[in-house]
Amino acid sequence: MNDAFDLTDIRSYIFTLPFVLQVFLIMIVTDFVQYWVHRMFHKIPWLWKFHAVHHSAENMDWLAGARMHFLEIGVLRGLTAVPMFTLGFKPEAIQAYVLVVYFYSSFVHANIGWNLKSVERFLVTPRFHHWHHGKERAAIDVNFSIHFPLYDWLFGTHHMPEDGTWPKKYGVMGKKMPKGFWKQFMYPFRRQTEDK
Ligand SMILES: [Zn+2]
Ligand SMILES: [Zn+2]
Repeated sequence: MNDAFDLTDIRSYIFTLPFVLQVFLIMIVTDFVQYWVHRMFHKIPWLWKFHAVHHSAENMDWLAGARMHFLEIGVLRGLTAVPMFTLGFKPEAIQAYVLVVYFYSSFVHANIGWNLKSVERFLVTPRFHHWHHGKERAAIDVNFSIHFPLYDWLFGTHHMPEDGTWPKKYGVMGKKMPKGFWKQFMYPFRRQTEDK
């Protein structure tokens, strides 16, 4: 009948893999999904209004990662959960991944200025994600990955200057984001006049 899409074998195979490998695989599959969701939030104007809340931080610190619109968190977590739950990972591995994401996100936003040259080709570092938040032209629509820069390499959005530099300014060009939680929460729903 419907066995063309029978995932049972894959699921039981994944379930038997070592814990650390499962967490790593979850990071790989979710990062692929999150890369495209993140890119959509930049490209589609009405979605950008939600994501602009995250980009409105003009000072990067470990808390900047937590500044996200509820709707975006819901869409992102919902869509990345699809491969996580269909591929048969152990619940413990999924829980560990959720913790990893939480700490990893604080880490890449933190304002610690390390140059992690040896790992930045393979793993997203603070400098990599800071470029995603940069205000200068070279920083527009680059570095969408959250764990593995590989996806930005593959899809042509990778930006990491060889000289180890960081962006000079952070934030969003054009419109000003209102201050305060509720104003930012309502921001995407409000009718907006053109840039000023
Ligand atoms: Zn973004
Ligand atoms: Zn960010």
